[in-house]
Amino acid sequence: MTGGGAGCLLSIWTKRKRNLNRIVAFLVGMLTCGAGAAQTILPDPVAEEGVEMGSQAGLEDWLAGFRTRALEAGIPAATFDAAMRGVEFNAGVVERDRSQNEFTKTIWDYLDTAVSGDRVTLGLQAIAANRDLLDRIEAEYGVEKEVVVAVWGLESAYGTYRGDLPVLGSLATLAYEGRRGAFFEAELIAALRIVQGGHVEDFTGSWAGASGHTQFMPSSWEKFAVDFDGDGKRNLWGDDPADALASTANYLRHWGWTKGQPWGVEVVLPEGFDYDQSTERVVKPVADWQAMGVRLVTGGDLPDHGPGSILLPGGHRGAAFLIWPNFQVIEKYNTADAYVVAIGNLSDQLRGGLPIQADWPRELRALTLEERKELQDLLGKAGFDPGGVDGRMGPKTVAAVKAFQKARGLVPDGYPSLEVLTLLR
Ligand code: CA
Repeated sequence: MTGGGAGCLLSIWTKRKRNLNRIVAFLVGMLTCGAGAAQTILPDPVAEEGVEMGSQAGLEDWLAGFRTRALEAGIPAATFDAAMRGVEFNAGVVERDRSQNEFTKTIWDYLDTAVSGDRVTLGLQAIAANRDLLDRIEAEYGVEKEVVVAVWGLESAYGTYRGDLPVLGSLATLAYEGRRGAFFEAELIAALRIVQGGHVEDFTGSWAGASGHTQFMPSSWEKFAVDFDGDGKRNLWGDDPADALASTANYLRHWGWTKGQPWGVEVVLPEGFDYDQSTERVVKPVADWQAMGVRLVTGGDLPDHGPGSILLPGGHRGAAFLIWPNFQVIEKYNTADAYVVAIGNLSDQLRGGLPIQADWPRELRALTLEERKELQDLLGKAGFDPGGVDGRMGPKTVAAVKAFQKARGLVPDGYPSLEVLTLLR
């Protein structure tokens, strides 16, 4: 999905399979997301325990009040009544929303599927099949075709899994049901405007109301969708991906994509590297990193694409990357490091680049939601402010982990491992 639903793509779930391309869609689609928002929603994520699940009757009560607000927002009564007739409460959508961060994966488990050999092969086929279109999009928007195709690959398995849930029903359920209600209500009103304008026939998508080849939320359609094939419609939903792929390029351009700048490169760090420096918050000229002994994983000198940061998304025993501002542009789709690295490395491989070379510490397991909250709670009690106890391993929590590791004489890589939690207990 476009936007900041971190954690979404890290969740484990199964998807209903389509008839066509069933196996492929399942294999590569099981990691696609579609929960999000091409705007800024904070990924917020944590389920409230014991909160009662809504119901169809509750949704209908809510819709009566919402109708007034929608009409005040300019939706004609006839449009509202026709569109919302028969909208159903979808308990599965709520379940997924509540649990999306509870079963997070490690980055290496995520990348195994997100950037699998199948996904690379299918991406190369997608480029070959759409080369002229992709060349024109790249020329118009200044975003490399491999990056656009990588987004397509992760968001809908190159169009094979675009989602088959009614968008209005998903958004109404999430707007009514509470968590981020205001956000989803605004998206629902945007969706009604799309319906009112006659822009979409089969308005289906994935569970959080994102839809189309590259999983746009309705408000993103309004802001960023383009009619690239010139048929008068901004159609992200049909079999032809032209508008959707151009809209994605337009979205990335809007957020500041710099053509020719890599998202990042895999590097090796020298013996004695100061791990305090491995954070997006530390930005240095490439010459400085080079002088510190950082090199490409293949052994060469670092390419100079301007100031960048060192990132260790799996801790100091995993792969290291030198990243540039395009990394932050990809974060506008999804803020999870694993997602950005997946898009980045998939795009690299689609232009003949290497898979990630370093090993990952595969014996480590991901902390559960409860463990992540416990980690934050204990960090706070030990005097290392994690910025709240919400289960999200955001920048403050990473900084707190680093400070704790440093105080204990560990490598301060900021990785929230079971070892750190055990030491805090
Ligand atoms: Ca069009």
